[in-house]
Amino acid sequence: MTQPVTLTLNAGSSSLKFSLYDITGAPVQLAIGNVENIGRQPRLKASLGDGVPRVERELSPSEASDHPSTLKTVLTLLREHFPKAHAAVVGHRVVHGGPRFSEPMAVTDEVMAELRTLSPFAPIHQPHNLAGIEAARAAFPDALQVACFDTAFHRHHPKANDVFALPREYYDKGIRRYGFHGLSYEYVSGELKRIAPLLHAGRVVVAHLGNGASMCGILDGRSVASTMGFTALDGLPMGTRCGQVDPGVIFYMVQQEGRTIDEVRDIFYNKSGLLGLSGISNDMRVLESAGVPEANEAVDYFVFRIRRELGGLAAALGGLDALVFCGGIGENSRKIRRRICDGMDWIGIELDHDRNDSGAQVISTDFSRARIMVIATNEEIVIARAAKRLLSEQAGAGA
Ligand code: AMP
Repeated sequence: MTQPVTLTLNAGSSSLKFSLYDITGAPVQLAIGNVENIGRQPRLKASLGDGVPRVERELSPSEASDHPSTLKTVLTLLREHFPKAHAAVVGHRVVHGGPRFSEPMAVTDEVMAELRTLSPFAPIHQPHNLAGIEAARAAFPDALQVACFDTAFHRHHPKANDVFALPREYYDKGIRRYGFHGLSYEYVSGELKRIAPLLHAGRVVVAHLGNGASMCGILDGRSVASTMGFTALDGLPMGTRCGQVDPGVIFYMVQQEGRTIDEVRDIFYNKSGLLGLSGISNDMRVLESAGVPEANEAVDYFVFRIRRELGGLAAALGGLDALVFCGGIGENSRKIRRRICDGMDWIGIELDHDRNDSGAQVISTDFSRARIMVIATNEEIVIARAAKRLLSEQAGAGA
């Protein structure tokens, strides 16, 4: 007998993250892993279920020379461990859904063509996401492919937060404030609804603080405003991305320093943020323990921008009922959470330091007007649920 599963894929420029879910009932994770450094010195890490030792090994260059060969290697591994698994559906994380896609979509040739037109909007991510879909279509020609968009959660935010104050024609050309990390916000918001429905119905700011970082103001489960904009570059400083800068800096670099646009893009995406400011690392753990002024300054700026955006998002929401942390830094760094929250009693939050240090889910005091929480995000399960739903709908339509 076969076991119905969905495979989820998140293809980056030189990485492929994957997970496998049993979808007999509500999706249950069977395996999760990633391959990094595709095409260079590829390395595989995977957890393949209870009782199976974690796999962590170098791959030969031919095992992961590009996305199709990497997917082949991953599938061989998964087939070894889950011989009965049958993937009728593959779910993909796609960074940009443009103005049109506000829901997960079954991938057809037409959808692929439209997604390709969005590559210039997200040149660092979108082409690789689409390469992942192409590889999966070739590997599973009969399976349903489902694209889940990081922009979709924000697609119904108010017009005032959708526009830039540029000449009107640019809005029509798709130059809009899209917002990203939508799969993470959808998961966290859904968890909040399950754990604390009254809070979910209120004014919530979610801070997704990882290597990529953004914040979102959510009212009754709907995105109202977020810190990322047209690309995943705006807003908070990130591991290597700059976050908000005055666009005049670009003119200066090009006109006065004679840099090419590609060089400027490389600086903004790959050499800025925590790495650029510290000159040491993009990794918060390294910076927290570095103990040198440059590292401290980078962390100071990170915290300062988050506090500033928290004030701005609370203003957009008309107040604050809950602040939720997620992402690698948000979930794990008690120091950063403390530095963000301390002295913000004016906005209604009061951190309980013992709860914060103990890894509790609710980390505010009992007297705090707004609740502070930590919810571990799970973008994969959002994709797996969507994949299962679209598969069922398709089966229903064909019945
Ligand atoms: P993500 O992109 O969500 O996987 O988050 C990666 C970021 O989380 C990196 O900057 C890590 O240094 C940071 N991180 C993970 N664990 C910790 C920790 N225990 N303390 C501080 N930062 C952490």
